[in-house]
Amino acid sequence: MRLLALLPLMAVAVAHVEHLEPRSQPGVPQPTPVDLRPLEWGDLNIISTTDTHGWLAGHVKEGSYSADFGDFASFLAHMRQQANYRRKDLLVVDSGDLHDGNGLADATNVSGTVSNPIFEKINYDALAIGNHELYLPEIAVDTYKNFAPKWGKKYLTSNTFIKDAHTNKTVPIGKLYNKFRMKFGTRVMSYGFLYNFVGAANNTIIEPANVTVTLPWFQKSLKEDVDVYLIVGHVPVRWAEAVSVINAIRAVHPSKPILLFGGHLHIRDFKAYDGRAFGLSAGRFMETLGWMSVSGIHDRACRVEANCIGKNLTVSRRYLDTNVHTYKTHSLSHRKQRFDTWRGRQITKEITKARKALGVSTVLGCAPQDYFLNRYPYTDSRSLLNLVTKEILPFSIVDKTRPYPTVVFINSGCQRFDVFKGAFTVDDTYIVSPFHDDFEFATVPYKVAKNLLNGLNKAPFQKRAEVQASSTNVTLTPGYVTNDDYGLGGDDWPHSPIPYVATPNYVSTDLPTGLGDNDLVDVAWLSFFTNLMAPLFKKLDPAGNYTIQPYRVGITTYEMWPIFAKAKWANATC
Ligand SMILES: [Zn+2]
Repeated sequence: MRLLALLPLMAVAVAHVEHLEPRSQPGVPQPTPVDLRPLEWGDLNIISTTDTHGWLAGHVKEGSYSADFGDFASFLAHMRQQANYRRKDLLVVDSGDLHDGNGLADATNVSGTVSNPIFEKINYDALAIGNHELYLPEIAVDTYKNFAPKWGKKYLTSNTFIKDAHTNKTVPIGKLYNKFRMKFGTRVMSYGFLYNFVGAANNTIIEPANVTVTLPWFQKSLKEDVDVYLIVGHVPVRWAEAVSVINAIRAVHPSKPILLFGGHLHIRDFKAYDGRAFGLSAGRFMETLGWMSVSGIHDRACRVEANCIGKNLTVSRRYLDTNVHTYKTHSLSHRKQRFDTWRGRQITKEITKARKALGVSTVLGCAPQDYFLNRYPYTDSRSLLNLVTKEILPFSIVDKTRPYPTVVFINSGCQRFDVFKGAFTVDDTYIVSPFHDDFEFATVPYKVAKNLLNGLNKAPFQKRAEVQASSTNVTLTPGYVTNDDYGLGGDDWPHSPIPYVATPNYVSTDLPTGLGDNDLVDVAWLSFFTNLMAPLFKKLDPAGNYTIQPYRVGITTYEMWPIFAKAKWANATC
């Protein structure tokens, strides 16, 4: 028995390169395997996902991130088995944002109808709600009525509420907190926090985290005897909301271990709040998983908290690229062990079937080159925003029946991902441009039109999509290189960094040329930021009085891509 228990430990200590069997979704590329360092295990170990946004099929065009949710399920089954052999506790957590960003989630009438039941097949231990569960009232209701009940006590919404239309009462969408005991004895108190999100649907309420932590229920929960505090939060680990929850616990428990698993910024990050409180963000779009291990949690001397103030826990963190090689290397006990589990295979098959039924693999055309969202300045022909402003907006959005020349403005955040050379599918339309933002317009003199872009970019940043990651933390494919509180070294796969170029918050099509200041121009923009345009008109032309009307009704930032691809890219062969 003892020998048996040791076997898996010995095997994984030697990370190895091995033959890759084709897995994931049919036909997707696999990365060239590299040697990976074994993971460090602690008393408590956590696998974390965040901001999955429907990418349950994995990245069908990028080998590094090609594992699907079936592979993820197989990986977790083996990791749980390893935890059992090692007699260590293992938690699997998610920090929210299941909607907006992939055909599997968004190609249904109500986003998540097909993808949520697949997501629910993963046995998470704690989950948080994201802002993308709260933009639309029907998604908030679906989350409350269908998603949250599937998880019971594990779906944690300590500061997020919904007005129940039937009872007329305001209630938490999930549970306020959950205390539980793990297999190998770790006693956990868990909470779920959302950052101070403004712009949620009218039927929802987000309570500021710094208010929640003063409430009697929260303070009372801190009196329970536990070994560790776990916060799953749709909140960046460095934001004030995260810090306020850490501080509130620390104020009562001077040395109790606190672990926070955040998200929202779509970056990998790790923060040490003190020697016994840590936060981790796992990335986005099922590109990377977060891994954290913590030892010292069961230190008997720490039962008297004063004894352990300033006594550091032993902590490791790692960001794992989601491909089958990563999963096999870290989870299998020995080389010959079969990776696929029955459950994993079933999930993979279900995803393949769902993608087929939704038609997301249907090819609309052939992209002639790569277009990157943040790899080049947006004036560069390899930039996706360059393609959008130079070709897609003029072709798909500008109303050619109007008598005046037109300038179209969008916020750069409405575009979310790269386009790769080759087949451009229905899935890609959801991946690149998931939001259904409609347009409005006004006819203004050229002297106003020419100053609008500058004015918009000076306005306070109005966020609809996620803030783009900062240049110090993130690069794009072929891989991420992460610099966090423990420095470099958190990335599981070694990657070469690629420069990250920030884009202006707002971009536009070219101004018409050869016009006088008083010549008329149609300016069109997303209704999402009409609240910025109207004051700008007033500022640029105090005497002007412009009528704002809907523009190209029925055509949104989503439709502009299929319209363009079908017309301009359909005749090329990939
Ligand atoms: Zn997100």
